[in-house]
Amino acid sequence: MKVYISADIEGVTGIAHWDEAEKNKSDYLQFQAQMQRELNAACEGALAAGVDEIWVKDAHDSGRNLIPQKLPQQVRLIRGWSGHPYSMVQELDESFDALIFIGYHSRAGANTNPLSHTMSTAVTRVIVNGEAVSEFTLHAYVAEMLGVPVVFLSGDEGICADAKKMIPEIRTVAVNRGVGSSSISIHPDIAVADIRENVRLALTASPQACRFQLPEKYIAEIEYKDHPAAYRFSFYPGASLSADCRVRFETNNWFEAMRFIHFVT
Ligand SMILES: [Zn+2]
Repeated sequence: MKVYISADIEGVTGIAHWDEAEKNKSDYLQFQAQMQRELNAACEGALAAGVDEIWVKDAHDSGRNLIPQKLPQQVRLIRGWSGHPYSMVQELDESFDALIFIGYHSRAGANTNPLSHTMSTAVTRVIVNGEAVSEFTLHAYVAEMLGVPVVFLSGDEGICADAKKMIPEIRTVAVNRGVGSSSISIHPDIAVADIRENVRLALTASPQACRFQLPEKYIAEIEYKDHPAAYRFSFYPGASLSADCRVRFETNNWFEAMRFIHFVT
């Protein structure tokens, strides 16, 4: 079995401030370590379920957070950013049996994580078919398009609830609850143990139960904090300005939607 894990930091246990997500800040190290522990726990759960190949995308900021020497030997690690529109699931293809998200966070504008955002902090919302969406939704659509089931997610309560709504059979571990600028978290050791066990169970059960129906067409809209960005990006081929701070793009191909989002956020 071959599994892909995409790891972010704004949904790891206890995180509550941008200083804890930025490499040049001293607060970062503690949460980088927890990101590593949660990712390693997911790898251990996958190996316990009989997985023999794991691809990991370090998908936060520079893409250079995880320490390669601390990973199990079965892991292939993707560091940095290639520029491919699949972004946080770069190199995902039909050969994978399952996709797992670790450390994921609520969508831009949601009040369920002090660090909620979607793709860029210059964007107030990413909207697909009228609904504000998360990085999880964007990349789960990529997986579904490729026929890869999304079986597990860990992160804040808000993103876990969104994931369950979209994929009722997905297993989740909620490590934080966001309240204003605060987070209320479980113990980091419990998070690690729960992630390990639930990833194992998710891969032992039937991953195919986590497939879902994609929409037939996509209206993707990006809402910016500042109107000049909307004007500039409205010149993306096929896009248009739909409000002062909003650009709209319509397609029936999710790759095209991801290419649009990739170039304009
Ligand atoms: Zn991140």
